Amino acid sequence: MSEKEVLLTGDRPTGRLHIGHYVGSLKNRVALQNSGKYDPYIMIADKQAFTDNARDPEKIHNSLLEVALDYLAVGIDPQKTTIFVQSAIPELSELTEYFLNLVSIARLQRNPTVKTEIQQKGFGESIPAGFFIYPVSQAADIALFKGAVVPAGDDQEPMLEQTRELVRTFNKVYGVDLLKEPVGYFPPKGQGRIPGLDGVKMSKSLGNAIYLGDSSDELWAKVKSMYTDPTHVRVEDPGHIEGNMVFTYLDIFATDQARVDELKQQYQAGGLGDMKLKKELFEVLDTELAPIRDRRATLASDPVAVLNMLKEGSMRARQVGQATMQEVRAAMGIQYW
Ligand code: ATP
Ligand code: MG
Repeated sequence: MSEKEVLLTGDRPTGRLHIGHYVGSLKNRVALQNSGKYDPYIMIADKQAFTDNARDPEKIHNSLLEVALDYLAVGIDPQKTTIFVQSAIPELSELTEYFLNLVSIARLQRNPTVKTEIQQKGFGESIPAGFFIYPVSQAADIALFKGAVVPAGDDQEPMLEQTRELVRTFNKVYGVDLLKEPVGYFPPKGQGRIPGLDGVKMSKSLGNAIYLGDSSDELWAKVKSMYTDPTHVRVEDPGHIEGNMVFTYLDIFATDQARVDELKQQYQAGGLGDMKLKKELFEVLDTELAPIRDRRATLASDPVAVLNMLKEGSMRARQVGQATMQEVRAAMGIQYW
């Protein structure tokens, strides 16, 4: 392994990636990859996707390629970043099992992100046990690769806290300085949890996303349907900025902040129609997404090449995982021969 600190992060193959992923994590990953300061790993978390999609393996299977295409389209470079598939590394399951003995059920129940997700997914009393413990498996994902830096959205902070706790406990209990406590690398304020078209967190599983691969027509249809200000009925009516999704997105994506300020003034004073405003947002998003969309379409014509890239990355990652697992077993006194 190289001397550089390991950067590790990933996504669940539960659908295509969206603009929330783009600002929440992908942009940072590309910048950190290109800085040359890290040894980057990106994992497609198919095992984690099964925790709430066990009965829909086709979705997971199909999304694997979609997510890989999104990675390559935004500029993740397999020459610089090891892109791998979680289920190809059985050592992750082994470490998860050992970690599970170092955390209480009460502690797992306190994780605020999991609490929210359980509500959103309407699990009630029937939470799959695997879903309930996914933060532990996520801790193993990071720890097995000795991940030091994790570029992620705001919902991942409780997961990182839990990872640090588990790593500290492991090292303390087994008297080693082996596993590493990771730190999160978060996007600028306001971009770590961008809302979807319905106002709640944009999410692959909630059907409220603008996808990186959306065509111009799909993009316009979504922008056109966006929630603005219900009191802004006629063009000349003064409008509100707060809670207006179009301005939320303009604030995040527009490169010309002076123009956004000008639009805000016009909108509040009255005289700027919703359609005109939405056209402006469409142009901003389309300019950013067009090159990604084009690269994605070209790459999609050769899925075998993409799968081969995943296979090579997974083989590399497995070697690293096997080496750590030997150290873990030795620390626990179960490296018998
Ligand atoms: P799912 O609905 O299957 O959970 P998701 O859209 O939440 O999908 P994940 O694969 O769970 O996506 O998350 C991958 C990464 O993208 C994480 O680092 C997460 O913090 C980040 N992310 C996801 N959604 C957003 C969002 N709306 N805004 C900013 N970052 C996000
Ligand atoms: Mg999620």
